[in-house]
Formats: sequence, C-alpha cells, structure tokens
Amino acid sequence: MKYGHRKGAILSEETKDKLRKSAVARVPARLIRFGITTEEYFAKLAAGLKWCCYHKKFEAQENFRDANRTDPCREANRMLSREWRRDNWTPSYRRSLVLKSHGTDQQWYESKLAEQGNRCALCEKVHSDKECLCVDHDKKCCKHIKSCGKCNRGLLCHVCNKRLGYFEVLLKMAQSVTAIPGTWLEKAIAYLEQYKES
Ligand SMILES: [Zn+2]
Ligand SMILES: [Zn+2]
Ligand SMILES: [Zn+2]
Repeated sequence: MKYGHRKGAILSEETKDKLRKSAVARVPARLIRFGITTEEYFAKLAAGLKWCCYHKKFEAQENFRDANRTDPCREANRMLSREWRRDNWTPSYRRSLVLKSHGTDQQWYESKLAEQGNRCALCEKVHSDKECLCVDHDKKCCKHIKSCGKCNRGLLCHVCNKRLGYFEVLLKMAQSVTAIPGTWLEKAIAYLEQYKES
C-alpha cells in the first residue's frame, strides 16, 4: 500500500521513521535539479552553508534570518519585498485595506465620495486619487481604528479626521457648544447631527 498519496492517510510509525531517515540522508528533491549531489549537499552543510532558494546557490548561515527554514537569504528577502511594494503597494491596494478594516467596500466608498462631491465632508478639501480619505465612524459603536461597517459615517481628510476625534472627546465635557456660523466647528456639529439621525 502506498502511503502519503491520499489526503489524511494514516502513516504507521515504521513508515514515518523510514521517511524521516530518507529525508535526512538524501539531498532535498528541490536541489536535485540543480545538479547538487548528496555528498556535495552534506559537505556544504558541514561547512556551515545553507541553500538560498532565490539565488540558487549555497550561502553563509549568517545571510539568513532563520537557520532552520528554507527561505531566501536576507538580501533576496529585501529585493522581493521591494519588488512586492513596487507592484502591489498602490493607492488602490492601500484603499482596499482601509475599507476592509471598516467592514465596507469600494462601492460604498465611491458612492459616499460622490455624495460628498469628491471632497472631505468637513473642510471640503478636494480629494486626489492618490490618497484615500479616512473612513470616519462612530466611536461609541467601535472604539478603535477598525469599525464594524454599520457605524461608518462620512469620508474625511486626515486633518479633519484627527480634529473631529479631538472635538468628540471635548464634546463629552461640554453641556452645549455654540459655533460661529461659517466655521469648521459649525460644520462638524452639523455633520455629527446628520449622522446621529441616520
Ligand atoms: Zn541569496
Ligand atoms: Zn478635511
Ligand atoms: Zn461599529
């Protein structure tokens, strides 16, 4: 009977032992195609070297972050993450992270942005495509940075998001606030009222 070919196959202790021994004694299968022989492999290990799966060569142990894993060396890791950032760390990816952490999606973001005329809800700073506006939410529902999605309010620029946060803390200490017409404060009060109702 062949073991290990079916998912969930139960291996006998004997078979496990055999596999363990063969794994120790032989050059790993992924190295065979690079023409590395078993003798060469163990000679390199004895010399304190480790195979880098990125550079496809043996390198000194200290080049690696973790001596026990078959990962690329530090330099390759740096290169790979730089490449990853270049290809993936785009404004739309950053936005998708923000939206995910607020339990909502791109569709909601776009309709909200259109509703606000492509501007921050408080200072009316025009939104550029490169940045993602902050998703403001009711801290009474979700205390921290993330939100459940149900308590999301409007989209704010970074400055207004911070300001509103401070203002809401101060508001807890006030009996009533009267804002001068036409000021940011007046807008903030109206904004909070608007989302209290809905
Ligand atoms: Zn390397
Ligand atoms: Zn703003
Ligand atoms: Zn919530």
